[in-house]
Amino acid sequence: MNLIFLGPPGAGKGTQAKRLAEKFGIPQISTGDLLRTAIQLKTELGLKAESFMSTGQLVPDPLVISMIRERLEKPDCEKGFILDGFPRTIPQAESLAKLLTEINSQLDRVLDLEVDSEEVVKRLSGRRQCSQCHENFHVEFKPSKTTVCDRCGGALIQRDDDKESVIRRRLEVYQKQTEPLIGYYQQKGLLEEISGRGSIDDIFQSVLKAVR
Ligand code: AMP
Repeated sequence: MNLIFLGPPGAGKGTQAKRLAEKFGIPQISTGDLLRTAIQLKTELGLKAESFMSTGQLVPDPLVISMIRERLEKPDCEKGFILDGFPRTIPQAESLAKLLTEINSQLDRVLDLEVDSEEVVKRLSGRRQCSQCHENFHVEFKPSKTTVCDRCGGALIQRDDDKESVIRRRLEVYQKQTEPLIGYYQQKGLLEEISGRGSIDDIFQSVLKAVR
């Protein structure tokens, strides 16, 4: 099963993609997490990506495309994968299609999680992320039981790009560069629209229904 999660930042793509990945036993691949790891490790890619990410802009397509190509060629993707945060532009979607053809594979579904802008700002400004395992928490909706990550004990941090001014910029970038993908995948008959409002469990039920 090869899936994509689409939707604005803060729609819950990561949360739902991780749950689904666990259920299906396939990897959840977040380009945002891969890039944040590259920044932490100060790799060449990380150094190039940092200024784009901290200001809420997209990292240039060629960098992200070669990163995802390398990731999809790993053996754990043979049974399928769930992409979270990729593609984010039409050229990325086209490169993905080409790459999948090359490896004799194809997309099964694109799940679009819909949430309005004010809800996104509320969710993201309260979000905290584990600096080690990237588990997400929220000061109000999903607080950790202690001051560190419940899962691995890592430090919880607020991402630089979860500050309100950067969130607004990310939303603009989403509307301009990523939203056109909804029409792109609709035309290909792959799109499933899912409401991103409600409890994590309820949304997960809708996700399951959409992939059955
Ligand atoms: P995310 O964790 O998915 O919200 O991504 C955080 C940031 O990483 C984005 O605001 C972009 O700067 C960068 N990023 C993640 N995925 C992509 C992508 N597919 N294309 C370009 N930039 C990306």
